[in-house]
Amino acid sequence: MPNVWGKGGIHEGKYHRHSVENDVRFFAGWKILKELYQKIEQPTYRSVGIFAFKLAARITEALNTEAEMFVIDQEGGFIFVRNFPILKRWKAIDKVVFCQRCGTRNNKFDMACSKCGANLVHSGKRKFITERQTVYRIPFYIKLAEPFSDEMVKFLEGKKGLLFPSPYTGKAYTRNWAYNIIKDYGKTVGLNNLYNHWFRSQRLMQLATEYKFNREELKVFSGIIKDETLDHYVKQIQPYTEKLGIEMDSQRFAELMEKKC
Ligand SMILES: [Zn+2]
Repeated sequence: MPNVWGKGGIHEGKYHRHSVENDVRFFAGWKILKELYQKIEQPTYRSVGIFAFKLAARITEALNTEAEMFVIDQEGGFIFVRNFPILKRWKAIDKVVFCQRCGTRNNKFDMACSKCGANLVHSGKRKFITERQTVYRIPFYIKLAEPFSDEMVKFLEGKKGLLFPSPYTGKAYTRNWAYNIIKDYGKTVGLNNLYNHWFRSQRLMQLATEYKFNREELKVFSGIIKDETLDHYVKQIQPYTEKLGIEMDSQRFAELMEKKC
């Protein structure tokens, strides 16, 4: 299978740190997503991938979804998603000073270490104490007519509480659990290194390029607030190749990148 995932999407061998900027240049397309999901027969495993994509969710957010977050409105033709927490917001709540001589944690205004007496103005290291902030996305919509919406509805049927609880802990499955599954399924479609974040970035790319979401719309849908991240997707909205009349997609792009001259 050719590398349709963009240069950087497949890596042989050693550990590679993924970055959205390098890995995701195109929406891979519904056809490829269908091919991938078809290979994943186990419903829970498949749903993790589907929910992560459809919600443009971080994998931890997808794993922590609860049935009550979804209202299915058949008449309106959409799934309404509410109270969807954003799990990456941290807030600095205090500052402390670590003594670099003995490691003791001191209060932010201390001039000398409470244990060894070292001068903290010179040998103190200031650090923020942070706590996770509970922030929610603005409620958002998923069209029922979109691919995989039926699967979401089916999976939600009769469910209460966490959608992906581990039978061992009762808590949501972890990102490592998902990582192992996703990596294995990637291999079944010829991807040696499919990774958790891929689903989220693919959805963002799809929203930007297919639905032509602008920056504000992407922000509302995904809860992203970082400008560089939004820019990465927004700049794909009107690829200049389109204006030049050049047809380009991920497969063609990958071929060009790999072509011997
Ligand atoms: Zn000390």
